[in-house]
Amino acid sequence: MKSRWNDEDAARYVETARAAGQSDALGLRIYTSRIIGGDPDLVLHGGGNTSVKVTSSDGEEFMHIKGSGWDLDTIEAPGLPAVRLAQLLAARNGPKLSDPHMVALLRESLLEKDAPNPSVEALLHAFLPFAYVDHSHATAILALADQPDMRETVKRIYGDRLAYVPYVMPGFDLSIEADRVFQDHRGCEGLWLENHGLFTFADDARTSYELMIEFVTMAENELARAGVELSGPQASDGPKNTGLATRLEKACTKPGSPFAGGVALDYRSTAAIRTHASKPDVEAISMRGTVTPDHVIRIKPWPMIIEADADEAEIESALATYGDRYRAYFERNAARASEPKRILDVYPRVVLVRGEGIFAIGASAKAAKIGGDLCEQATRAINAAEAYGRFTPIGEADLFDMEYWSLEQAKLAAPAKFQ
Ligand SMILES: [Zn+2]
Repeated sequence: MKSRWNDEDAARYVETARAAGQSDALGLRIYTSRIIGGDPDLVLHGGGNTSVKVTSSDGEEFMHIKGSGWDLDTIEAPGLPAVRLAQLLAARNGPKLSDPHMVALLRESLLEKDAPNPSVEALLHAFLPFAYVDHSHATAILALADQPDMRETVKRIYGDRLAYVPYVMPGFDLSIEADRVFQDHRGCEGLWLENHGLFTFADDARTSYELMIEFVTMAENELARAGVELSGPQASDGPKNTGLATRLEKACTKPGSPFAGGVALDYRSTAAIRTHASKPDVEAISMRGTVTPDHVIRIKPWPMIIEADADEAEIESALATYGDRYRAYFERNAARASEPKRILDVYPRVVLVRGEGIFAIGASAKAAKIGGDLCEQATRAINAAEAYGRFTPIGEADLFDMEYWSLEQAKLAAPAKFQ
């Protein structure tokens, strides 16, 4: 992976920040956030987050942290609201915060009360003692992070440069665990998050960003060393099965469906998707889960799989089977939740057509496109993970906790401009 850093562009962002009365540090933060966001092999659609810590003229420390609802590739200053750092650091040695308490703390620490909610990873960013912190879900990293136990391999690849954080659900618990791991590995330059992604940090914008690029490149090299091919993003080039699309649309818009008011289908058929969809064990692989935890809120834990010549009755039967499976998943896992959960609709968001391609389903074209983009990346990561070893993402219980996490559900309920 190549660095997109360019001195002239960086200087332009600094100038723009100055003209708006903002700090140089924020200007550079916007710049490197955008070049991270501009690479679909680093982050997609609201994935990843970035921050920068600054000191005001009267000596108070603030942190600009990505606000919920913003995408890194188009982020602007209002998408990086400032929080009072001392208020967040106080949570480090305090009691465990529940989700509502953490959100309340993050909102109370905001300088501007009408700012968007700081990222649910704000505490993790706050605890790391570096000006710049960058977090991505890079494809090459996911191909390796979704393997059975990578602690020794990560050590072999990165030595002491990365510290290994076992999977913990994002939010308060992850911030405490990541801090603990960092304190045990003070010289590290980044954190490897099992089943999730990568954090890098440094006191200047370029170093933190270029560490991200360097570590992703090292993951690409590890895949290449093992003879695993990881292709870049691919445009859809397979013919669309229009007959199937029509039948699927009809089945999805029946009364009682969440798409009764209209459905958008985003069809993708790339070489990587066809490879995935043609595997004899595609169903077993698909059932394992999503490549990074927060994909589950967009595409559900698994796709529905149908044959290319499925007729209406077969599609309806597949939908019914999917609904039964989803209800059983909900019931198994809701039973152990600490508060009551309400089941979401039981329709798939991704329909995999065996051997051919993928339909991402949404109530709007935008939602369907987001699903399609996530699948495009995910299938490349899964193919590479399977070629390297065994694709092993978080298990069902962790998927459920993520899918039914109130803070994630809040993202979907956000106003349209923040979707
Ligand atoms: Zn993440």
